[in-house]
Amino acid sequence: MLSLNSKIARWCTVVCLVGGLITSSSAVASQVKKPIIQQPSQQQKHKSAYNHSDEVLKKLGTKPTRFTDSETQLINQPTPDTAENPAEDTANAPSKTVYLTFDDGPHKISDQILSILDEFDAKATFFMLDGNIRNFPEAVKRMAESGHSLGAHGVTHDKMKIYQSPQTVVAEMDQTLSTIKEITGIDSTLIRTPYGSVPYMKDHYKKAVSDKGYQLWDWNVDSKDWYYRDKRLVDYTIVQVAEKAKKDEPLVILLHEREETLSQLPELLEYLKELNYNFEGLNAGMTPIHLK
Ligand SMILES: [Zn+2]
Repeated sequence: MLSLNSKIARWCTVVCLVGGLITSSSAVASQVKKPIIQQPSQQQKHKSAYNHSDEVLKKLGTKPTRFTDSETQLINQPTPDTAENPAEDTANAPSKTVYLTFDDGPHKISDQILSILDEFDAKATFFMLDGNIRNFPEAVKRMAESGHSLGAHGVTHDKMKIYQSPQTVVAEMDQTLSTIKEITGIDSTLIRTPYGSVPYMKDHYKKAVSDKGYQLWDWNVDSKDWYYRDKRLVDYTIVQVAEKAKKDEPLVILLHEREETLSQLPELLEYLKELNYNFEGLNAGMTPIHLK
């Protein structure tokens, strides 16, 4: 536990920072604020890579929040006092959660995605296709051993086939979850249907998967990585994170196991770390979010 002195010192820091934000000139405030968002060693090598394109953000009509709302949010976080090790008692201790989800894998690059996640001490959720699981069983085993969450994305990924009836959806998910069980021993009930639940998963479809005990997950932050395929996917994602963070629901980011996504992943994780997010996998106890 923290010593009383370090708690007091910490609260003084927070109070001073809030005071600084309210009363100081912007120049002084930026001097005070800057050290808070600096990241420790592990992610430093990715640090120089992040340089959001203002042009894209302008197009989106939203300015980046990393030096405005985000810092205010950070300072307004309740001070965690559960750290066992005083050395870890820093102002940017993780206190918010984001759920990264990767669809359509596994893939030949899964191993690299997993290594980056390891580097950031991040857990994610993989919604996978049956055939790909068969093709890359070692990647799926590594996901399981690393503590990531595993879910089914189906067999055909063909809307004409999977959405023929509630039973065809259930059958594809059954098959995929049983393959996950066969390879990892994990009994997952997490599913995400191709293209999300809208418009194909009508109420009777949703009831069918729910009756099977499955949790159907959509997302509320779409990286559009399949479309942007470059650093714009980071920009597009962070703008939405800033917007959706105000809502009272888990922040679930849609990504795909793609080479372009892999190349942008360190920047995305770096940015979210700066915003004080940690990264967890979805679990069966959570209430799934659905597209409207
Ligand atoms: Zn998909």
